[in-house]
Amino acid sequence: MTDTPADDPKPSFRSDITVELVKHAASDSDVLWAARVSTAGEQSLDELKKDPERSKGLINFLMRDRHGSPFEHNSMTFFISAPIFVFREFMRHRVGWSYNEESGRYRHLQPVFYVPGADRKLVQEGRPGKYVFVPGTEEQHELTVRAMEDSYRQAYEAYQEMLAAGVAREVARAVLPVGLFSSMYATCNARSLMHFLGLRTQHELAKVPSFPQREIEMVGERMEEHWARLMPLTHAAFNANGRVAP
Ligand SMILES: Cc1cc2nc3c(=O)[nH]c(=O)nc-3n(C[C@H](O)[C@H](O)[C@H](O)COP(=O)(O)OP(=O)(O)OC[C@H]3O[C@@H](n4cnc5c(N)ncnc54)[C@H](O)[C@@H]3O)c2cc1C
Repeated sequence: MTDTPADDPKPSFRSDITVELVKHAASDSDVLWAARVSTAGEQSLDELKKDPERSKGLINFLMRDRHGSPFEHNSMTFFISAPIFVFREFMRHRVGWSYNEESGRYRHLQPVFYVPGADRKLVQEGRPGKYVFVPGTEEQHELTVRAMEDSYRQAYEAYQEMLAAGVAREVARAVLPVGLFSSMYATCNARSLMHFLGLRTQHELAKVPSFPQREIEMVGERMEEHWARLMPLTHAAFNANGRVAP
């Protein structure tokens, strides 16, 4: 099928990512309920109400001693819009995650591209394994945004030209860069999310520091905000125990 001229959108540029919590079945009680079966058999679903202080202590104990499986009996589905290079990193997380992403074979990809915001640190100082990021100059920022936008426009024009000539979307998309925005559903549980957050966020409470790329960290931070509201005791225990997934 040849795409029509009506499918000729103008490129737009974004510096933000979005994370929406679209579906969830996740609470601190889910952790207690799963853990208490080992000592007390079948449980009520509302375990937390029984004894809040003991419950808090149990969640902290499970986290500290890395009894991980009680943190798996819950589910959160996020709708994420972010550049393709973020999804490349994201999908390296194989365990406890399910993904469905928009298709470049079946969709005419829209020209929404990532450019770093003014607060994105641009310059890496130091050597691999031991480096810091520092803010760039205004000139570096302008150059970066201009170079990216020019190159995005050129790439998208080539994509459009091929589509207009009847070339299949799955072939034409090869010219599009990893700064193109994509979208996906990602479903996880608290344990797999904690493992992700331990690697993809930087935090003063982290026992094992990690050095994630800022853009995937932005996704992690948004997911963490949602999760902290759903499972406040589990989130607090994660922080209190050095942000190491159990
Ligand atoms: C700062 C940073 C830099 C990175 N740089 C690079 C890079 O340069 N190149 C690159 O390729 N990747 C890179 N990665 C990706 C990294 O190597 C991991 O693939 C990614 O972080 C997912 O972690 P994971 O495998 O622990 O997670 P998951 O795939 O979710 O696995 C969870 C856990 O399950 C177990 N597990 C899963 N699969 C196996 C298996 N096959 N065998 C044994 N145990 C298993 C492990 O205990 C693992 O920790 C980087 C990650 C970070 C955070």
